[in-house]
Amino acid sequence: MTSPTSSRLVVLAGPTAVGKGTVAAVIRAEHPDVWISVSATTRPPRPGEVDGVHYHFVDDARFDAMVAGDEMLEWAVVHGAARYGTPRRPVEEALAAGRKALLEIDLQGARQVRRTMPDALFVFLAPPSWEELVRRLVGRGTESGEERERRLATARTELAAEEEFDVTVVNREVHAAAGQLVALMGLDLEPDPST
Ligand code: 5GP
Repeated sequence: MTSPTSSRLVVLAGPTAVGKGTVAAVIRAEHPDVWISVSATTRPPRPGEVDGVHYHFVDDARFDAMVAGDEMLEWAVVHGAARYGTPRRPVEEALAAGRKALLEIDLQGARQVRRTMPDALFVFLAPPSWEELVRRLVGRGTESGEERERRLATARTELAAEEEFDVTVVNREVHAAAGQLVALMGLDLEPDPST
């Protein structure tokens, strides 16, 4: 049984559009003492995304080389489109340096990390309801209709995976969810001054 505060590595997963990235962004801004992994991806950057900050944007050949060189802690094809993966070495270095580390990845990736790093704490970020998840995905407006349908189909199966996780955090409000997550790491999050 994993005790929350003894886990220095937290793996955050959950369905598409639940707000994993937003929760991670709050932690990045408010808790620089938490080290957050920067994934590699073959998808193109969205407006405002910065290479090396939000993702390492790489081409297929570079991603292939990283996989072949065993440089990925885990990787997956997400939503049947692009590939995403966690570069292994930075995670190992952060943990070796005694940092609290966070991976924000999809369910397939979380399952792979479960096999290789079973002492990590696996946290499922859940929406308050299915209706709210649909609202967030539509409201985000970053996907075309076809892509949105594909992501919703994936989300339905992803929601059923909650039972595989150690802890569930419900993302009603992003700052509260981020606070719960850092509390699980044995840290405090300053209250949001805007609330
Ligand atoms: P987006 O394209 O919206 O940034 O992310 C799509 C999905 O990819 C999200 O569910 C996100 O959690 C997942 N993802 C991001 N980085 C990684 C990674 O390194 N590995 C895996 N397996 N999934 C990732």
